[in-house]
Amino acid sequence: MRAKIIDGKAVATQIRSQLKVRAEAFSARCGRRIGLAVILVGDNAASKIYVRNKIAACEEVGIQSAAYYLPSETEETKLTELIDTLNADNSTDGILVQLPLPKHINARSILERILPQKDVDGFHAINAGNLLLGNPCLPACTPHGCIELIRSTGVPIAGKHAVVIGRSNIVGKPMALLLLQNDATVTVAHSRTQDIKSITKQADILVVAVGIKEFVTGDMIKPGAIVIDVGMNRGEDKLYGDVCFDEAAQVAGYITPVPGGVGPMTIAMLLGNTVTTAEMHNA
Ligand code: NAP
Repeated sequence: MRAKIIDGKAVATQIRSQLKVRAEAFSARCGRRIGLAVILVGDNAASKIYVRNKIAACEEVGIQSAAYYLPSETEETKLTELIDTLNADNSTDGILVQLPLPKHINARSILERILPQKDVDGFHAINAGNLLLGNPCLPACTPHGCIELIRSTGVPIAGKHAVVIGRSNIVGKPMALLLLQNDATVTVAHSRTQDIKSITKQADILVVAVGIKEFVTGDMIKPGAIVIDVGMNRGEDKLYGDVCFDEAAQVAGYITPVPGGVGPMTIAMLLGNTVTTAEMHNA
């Protein structure tokens, strides 16, 4: 194997230990723990695992988590009322609504209901807009985690050609903006892109967020590239990335594994946003 593995678990562990110190300092100064509310509507099995992992991670760094499990038939107004209550609660520093929400609930209006300064997922239009403008904001966790993983290689981002496959609001678009802020030359590819291989072959940094198992094959990668695999596709036997790891690792310079790459960083960045916003609003 040619590529060096970017160990997301190790990078996330390091970040979490720094966050623990900050969370303890907050508790000592403010007389309470930083608080994160996590809301799960319905019984999506994957969402339950994500919520459980987020709550466990909070405990580990000393953040007080409060989980709200609501039945799938919950009316949108009930969810809105809960968010309003948490918005007004001074001991709740961050609010996270686990996606996807049941179809009868308008996810966009729910996300917009969360106060921007409590929007630790970074999905509110104010945070997304501030990211676009290059203003201080709570950035979306997964792309922020990807940037930290790229930085962990020590390879400068500035001047590199970065290709992002995927243009979702939660991964692809904010990823492209963060790479641009870091002075990369950015190309965004999506389902209507023609001859995607000719584009990915030019990428010094390739971030893949497509949601298709092993979409990127070894022949699509520029030798020596940094490959960040955001994908999480549950197969019958295991979790698969959006990149065919065995092939890509023969060509790339650096690569993230799935699992153990981007996933742990998403949670670390969520904790980071929670600590940051608590510190900012309790200065
Ligand atoms: P999404 O909303 O479904 O977006 C997928 C994107 O891929 C879309 O922009 C789509 O293009 C593009 N796409 C689909 N088929 C394509 C094709 N054949 N060629 C090129 N582009 C194509 O997914 P997402 O929420 O961004 O998530 C992407 C993946 O990351 C999923 O596997 C998800 O589970 C994973 N994920 C992981 C984490 C983590 O913490 N590790 C966090 C979030 C997401 P169009 O816009 O043209 O439809």
